[in-house]
Amino acid sequence: MDRRKFIKTSVAGAAGLAAAPSVIAQEVSAGVIIPGEVSTDGKRGNVSADVERHLDVSGYVREPAHRIPVVASADVVVAGGGAAGVSAAVSAARQGASVILVERANFLGGLWTGGLVLPVLATHGKGKKLEWDKATGGICSELCDTLLDNGWAHNPLNPVCDPEPTKYVLEKMLADAGVRILYNSTVAGVVTSGNRIDCVLVDCNTGRIALRCRMAVDASGDGLLFSFAGDPHEARRYHMSTSYRIDGVSSETSYLYRTATPGMRYSPFGSREAIDGLDVFKVSQTQREHRLAIWDKVQEKKKEPGFENIHLMEVAPTTGVRVTRVLDSLHNVTLDESMEWTEFEDVIGMSGMCDPFMYKGRRINHKDRPIWQIPYRSLVPRQTRNLLVAGRCFGYDQGITWDAREISTCLVTGQAAGTAAAMLALPTAPYASARDIDIPELQRRLRAAGVRLEF
Ligand SMILES: Cc1cc2nc3c(=O)[nH]c(=O)nc-3n(C[C@H](O)[C@H](O)[C@H](O)COP(=O)(O)OP(=O)(O)OC[C@H]3O[C@@H](n4cnc5c(N)ncnc54)[C@H](O)[C@@H]3O)c2cc1C
Repeated sequence: MDRRKFIKTSVAGAAGLAAAPSVIAQEVSAGVIIPGEVSTDGKRGNVSADVERHLDVSGYVREPAHRIPVVASADVVVAGGGAAGVSAAVSAARQGASVILVERANFLGGLWTGGLVLPVLATHGKGKKLEWDKATGGICSELCDTLLDNGWAHNPLNPVCDPEPTKYVLEKMLADAGVRILYNSTVAGVVTSGNRIDCVLVDCNTGRIALRCRMAVDASGDGLLFSFAGDPHEARRYHMSTSYRIDGVSSETSYLYRTATPGMRYSPFGSREAIDGLDVFKVSQTQREHRLAIWDKVQEKKKEPGFENIHLMEVAPTTGVRVTRVLDSLHNVTLDESMEWTEFEDVIGMSGMCDPFMYKGRRINHKDRPIWQIPYRSLVPRQTRNLLVAGRCFGYDQGITWDAREISTCLVTGQAAGTAAAMLALPTAPYASARDIDIPELQRRLRAAGVRLEF
């Protein structure tokens, strides 16, 4: 069904309720948005429309409205504990904000650790003086240095990190910064008033709870907060891969990719078919195919001389969907900007190279990929005032989808979003809008934290 038609239909449905007012209608008019319902202006919380774009809908059921207990409040609530979410939460807490991070798994790192996506890419690129240069600093360097110095990662340019030590280092960083964590907790909606998120709704094993926040950071990878809040965004398709680890490889063979642990190797497995990562049926089917094929592949390999002792350690517990929703931000970074050393007045960090790619008919190799600046505006939604977006769902155009999602870029956008959220959550700025931040002050704080901003 076309979106406008759907909104009209649903609003008409809500109007029908007005004759015999229900709890749902009252709550909607009070600005409470229940996922699956539409607001009276038809603009917010229209989650069923999002489902319709990705799945075949055969009908509707109505969930009875219910009161949701508010169990905690924080200056900043961060959705998602991947690279971006940890970086955002730690940065906000180090700036003095109270922070709660909500994570649906029971570990940190998201795709990095759970998806067995081990190399931290995009830390370097070609500088303006045409030299090979470091693009990142701040939390990205802090993490990489800790992992490398302890022998938990190898390859200083793009550290290939073992997942368990990485989870440990992320956990320690979060604990030291004083961030409260909610594991096994799924962000399930938002409660808004005007253009602000008042509460983030979370499903955990006690039931649905609400967390009150002054600022929110969407680091969910899937853009859940901005989708729930009704901010404009785009849904992209990409190929999906499943990584796995094996053990027992003799150190002489070059079989699969090396890790920091002798004998252990990892590899992604998948096809180049672009899939809709928001189609849960398709993603689940693909996950099944990958798991079965990886098992068979490893059993076959064991039959070869020299590989008798290998065994499958694990198939990644986090599904390898690369990109789904991407924010339509105040300024979406473009591939052209990134290739021309474009300088932004509101720069909040930089990123670098990834794999070789074709640009204007020319192959761009690692060392020819310019370092590129990320503007603050690419983290800012068009509608919701107290929300910032970090990680693989911030605002960038289709052409730069490959580079913009790399782990170092997620750490950089996370650090900026967390630092900015802490500034905006100050009691002296009770209704601050993410748009109105003091950019020089934000840049001063980022520089002080070691983030590189200049070419
Ligand atoms: C197969 C594959 C290979 C890749 N290879 C590389 C590579 O070699 N090097 C590189 O640098 N990058 C690589 N990438 C990209 C990179 O890994 C990711 O883009 C990056 O890790 C994303 O970080 P993030 O924090 O934005 O999102 P995520 O890592 O997706 O983190 C989001 C977090 O939010 C949580 N979450 C989601 N929904 C909810 C919810 N409703 N409630 C609570 N929590 C929720 C998730 O559990 C997760 O922990 C690869 C990606 C894939 C898929």
